[in-house]
Amino acid sequence: MGRRSSFTDPMMTNLALNRNEREQRKTVLKSYPIKIFVEPTSRCNLSCPMCGNRNQKRTADMDLPLFRKIERELFPHVAGVDFYLNGEPTIAENFPLMIQTAEKYLFMPRIFTNGNCLSEQTMEDLVRVGFSVTFSIDTVDPATYREMRPGGDMSRVTANIRRLAAIQRRIRNPRFHMRIAATLGMQNVAEGPKMVRFAKGLGIREVAILAMSGGSRSPVHLSCDPEKSVFYLKRAKRLADRLSVRISLPRLIGGIYLDEYNNWDSFRLPVDGHFHPDLEEATPFNGMCPFPWTQAAFRADGSVVPCSHTLKSMGDMRTASFREIWNSRGYRLLRSKSTYYRCLGSRCNLAFHSY
Ligand code: SF4
Repeated sequence: MGRRSSFTDPMMTNLALNRNEREQRKTVLKSYPIKIFVEPTSRCNLSCPMCGNRNQKRTADMDLPLFRKIERELFPHVAGVDFYLNGEPTIAENFPLMIQTAEKYLFMPRIFTNGNCLSEQTMEDLVRVGFSVTFSIDTVDPATYREMRPGGDMSRVTANIRRLAAIQRRIRNPRFHMRIAATLGMQNVAEGPKMVRFAKGLGIREVAILAMSGGSRSPVHLSCDPEKSVFYLKRAKRLADRLSVRISLPRLIGGIYLDEYNNWDSFRLPVDGHFHPDLEEATPFNGMCPFPWTQAAFRADGSVVPCSHTLKSMGDMRTASFREIWNSRGYRLLRSKSTYYRCLGSRCNLAFHSY
């Protein structure tokens, strides 16, 4: 199946204007964000001990009027929409409709999922529409997986990945893409290279390795034993190079910089023609965060947060227009900061380690 592959004029105009305003560090913007997160639900089917979402008291699914308002105001302008934030998107009541809505636009649609609750229809739709699907898996060992993700079943996840691959062999949508994201700490850093081999075995061409949050205050953060961490990360990179698996790694672990923290330029993947490079170009690494200009995230309850790493609300999409929130006093103050190692009252994991 050959999907439309070009970027629309409003999208390109917004990408150029946003870049210009970001470079000038304007605090009041005419441009829209270039990428947004839409949280279909803050509920999850699992209760993983390491997940900050686990103890959330109030959970909600995004209702249709709110989703349609976000669609009207943002979808024509953005180059990427990530249909997740906290929670498991595939269990949201309106998720099937969100997938169908994404089909009307040319932005790159993506989800992060634990992969345990994918129905046959959802998998068919994800491939047909051309989603990028990231499976969040932190170990390749089924018993450890059960401990890390209570309620989850590794064999169900791998069966779903194989099923998606089979649907893709039939539909052949070049925009459909699968990726594994592994969040590593000292307890599972040795899983990095295994994760690359596991991905390759399932026909997945991309692995993203992330440093768990918590920094030096955590007893299991990668920076607790930087030499050991870097040893396994470098081993994962070498294996990925050999197997032609795209990989990204944290850049800085406990004072050690990884010179080769990705192999993005080593080979091309079919999805590349559908993914505007500006979406991943700038990161918060070294404390210069671009996200107050380039991103906005819409929670299921209507609150707008500046990125996927904070729950600090900048406004309520139910009672205000996006433009009012985007140029509100809170956003203007956020864009006035000279450094982002601490942001909105917390230490930012991405500013220290990034990808
Ligand atoms: S919390 Fe981190 S990633 Fe988010 S806007 Fe602040 S510095 Fe950027």
